[in-house]
Amino acid sequence: DLLVVGSANADLVIGLDRRPGPGETVLGSDLEIHPGGKGANQAAAAARLGARTTLLARVGDDAYGRMLAEAQRDAGAALAGLLVGPTDTPGTVGKDGIRTPKNTGDADGVEGKDAPTGVALITVDAAGDNSIVVSPGANARLTPDDVAAAEALFEAAAVVSLQLEIPLETVAAAARAAARHGARVVLNPSPPARLPEDVLALCDPLVLNEHEARLLLSDGHTLGDAPEEWATALLALGPRSVVVTLGAEGALAAGPGIGPEQTDGVGMVRIASPRVTAVDTTGAGDAFTGALGWRLGRGDGLEDAVRYAVRVGAFAVTRPGAQESYPRAADIDNSTAE
Ligand code: ADP
Repeated sequence: DLLVVGSANADLVIGLDRRPGPGETVLGSDLEIHPGGKGANQAAAAARLGARTTLLARVGDDAYGRMLAEAQRDAGAALAGLLVGPTDTPGTVGKDGIRTPKNTGDADGVEGKDAPTGVALITVDAAGDNSIVVSPGANARLTPDDVAAAEALFEAAAVVSLQLEIPLETVAAAARAAARHGARVVLNPSPPARLPEDVLALCDPLVLNEHEARLLLSDGHTLGDAPEEWATALLALGPRSVVVTLGAEGALAAGPGIGPEQTDGVGMVRIASPRVTAVDTTGAGDAFTGALGWRLGRGDGLEDAVRYAVRVGAFAVTRPGAQESYPRAADIDNSTAE
């Protein structure tokens, strides 16, 4: 099974000609509301491909929380780890698969205040550039205690997939719980942050795009333009393996036993993405990572898993939206592009 521990957000998207300055008001397009958040996206991607998937995440007892639960259910993911409100803990799920909230008071210093579902306020300008404000809401209330209470989910997991849109201490607790249960850790350091050394050492792989790679390596490295150079520098930080996604160029996999030429048993290989017409790249990296985690859990080697994941990422950019754009396994099997 794949266990994704991470964020769930409602993405609120408005198109506009140009962004307002301080004190200014501009008119934009109709509001679009989509399920999002890196954790929810990864879980939806894997589940839609057919993976047995659970998302351990926290949402508010509100309409966006219910939208996110429904999106997980529609994708085929289990809802046992989707916690509603500050006091919910992993346990039974209602008969419709949606949890009945039991918001009975204080938990973890939340002062009796029920946190709303996380929201990303996204504006897209005429040039197609995004500006995003994230309100973490309930995501900030996913605690190491929630990880401890979800022991059974970790026990069932072959792979645990992590990102950094929840508290770092919770990410660290999840990585350590995965290690205790013999599950493989896949970690996307986004938004980029410094990770405890023991957590980095568990990442197999650390999955990141160019932007995240440059930020993680920003001190002590003068970086050139070759992704191979970034991969070498990233491996020196201590993860067992590294995958750098390269947008339309595909991805680079680096680590023990990878590629034809190896130094000290460590090598790397570039894997091209199928050529497609990109319509909307939102959530492509999450689709890639969800697919990667599933394939690794099935027993694929890293190189094979990346070969599959680039095809999933490429498919996702050919359709608008994030979760709505994700393929089923048949879409990948039937695509002739290599
Ligand atoms: P992120 O979405 O995190 O920035 P990338 O842009 O590197 O990540 O994309 C992740 C994966 O999605 C790539 O490895 C590739 O497989 C696929 N992908 C992204 N953009 C394109 C594109 N323009 N054409 C084909 N595949 C793409």
